Amino acid sequence: AWDTVGFIGLGNMGAHMATNLSKAGHPLVVYDVFPEAATRLAAEAPSNVVVAGSPADVGASKAEVIVTMLPSSPHVESVYNGPDGVFAGAGDASKFCIDASTISPPVAAAVAESAKSKGHVLIDAPVSGGTIGAENATLTFMVGAEKAEFEQARAVLGRMGQNIVHCGSHSTGQVAKVANNLVLGISMIAVNEAMNLGVKSGMDPKVLAGIFNTSSARCWSSDTYNPCPGAMDGVPAARGFTGGFAAPLMAKDLSLAIEAANAINAPLNLGSSAHALYRLMCTNGMSDLDFSGYWQMLQDKPSS
Ligand code: NAD
Repeated sequence: AWDTVGFIGLGNMGAHMATNLSKAGHPLVVYDVFPEAATRLAAEAPSNVVVAGSPADVGASKAEVIVTMLPSSPHVESVYNGPDGVFAGAGDASKFCIDASTISPPVAAAVAESAKSKGHVLIDAPVSGGTIGAENATLTFMVGAEKAEFEQARAVLGRMGQNIVHCGSHSTGQVAKVANNLVLGISMIAVNEAMNLGVKSGMDPKVLAGIFNTSSARCWSSDTYNPCPGAMDGVPAARGFTGGFAAPLMAKDLSLAIEAANAINAPLNLGSSAHALYRLMCTNGMSDLDFSGYWQMLQDKPSS
């Protein structure tokens, strides 16, 4: 059984996931390039959090298992393989690494291969469930790993999530995640447009959302993460679209889907439109907003 866990990347998702590991009794060695993220966690969590100075320091620590929750492919590559990375710090000690970030499937396969060549294990375990799922430890983990590696990782993943699914060999977790977010990115635009249509025509947001959620429009974007202010509490739309899953990350996930689809000539007609719309959010000064904040793109701006 693993005791001490290393955790790198303490953002909107990672901070909650690390907190749940700590609450379950795992001593933690944590690192984030943004130092406040690590010190905040150390201040909040019970006495068992040590702040490391670099990914190499996490690699050099006694943590046998290391979880990463980083923005995207380049961050994951450098955190593991960089000169100041986990593997540089680990030396001869063998580490079991779990990357929960959403990254390019081919990059996930490549970092898993380089880990193996250095005597480590690196599995992909991207998540679904949002910051709410991260906070409540109800995430779904989509795991790309050999069967035995999956069995080894199951307990620690179970501290942070509820559904732990073995997708297949290395990088298949990322394939599943990218496909999932292709649906999510499109459905969020659809719910935005439909809620806006209804509310602008005079309907009460709660009533309309309630109809969707008991009718054929029902989906996660409507019943768990409704983008229309006033439709539900506790979601980004209820707090000015702050926190949550930032628009550039959704644009990144759709670009990963497009890249994967291009490689096999699979058409993504709505997927490429949705990608363009989230990119438009970013170039319109909405990079800090949650992706459901596409709502703002649909509102008339006062003319100047
Ligand atoms: P975030 O930007 O809030 O957090 C990323 C953290 O990584 C930040 O604290 C950042 O400072 C840190 N970081 C960046 N580069 C680093 C480096 N080189 N070394 C150490 N730390 C570094 O992002 P997030 O919303 O927590 O998402 C993380 C990953 O999970 C992404 O791949 C995202 O696509 C995926 N994801 C997010 C959600 C969500 O709802 N937010 C849901 C499912 C999956």
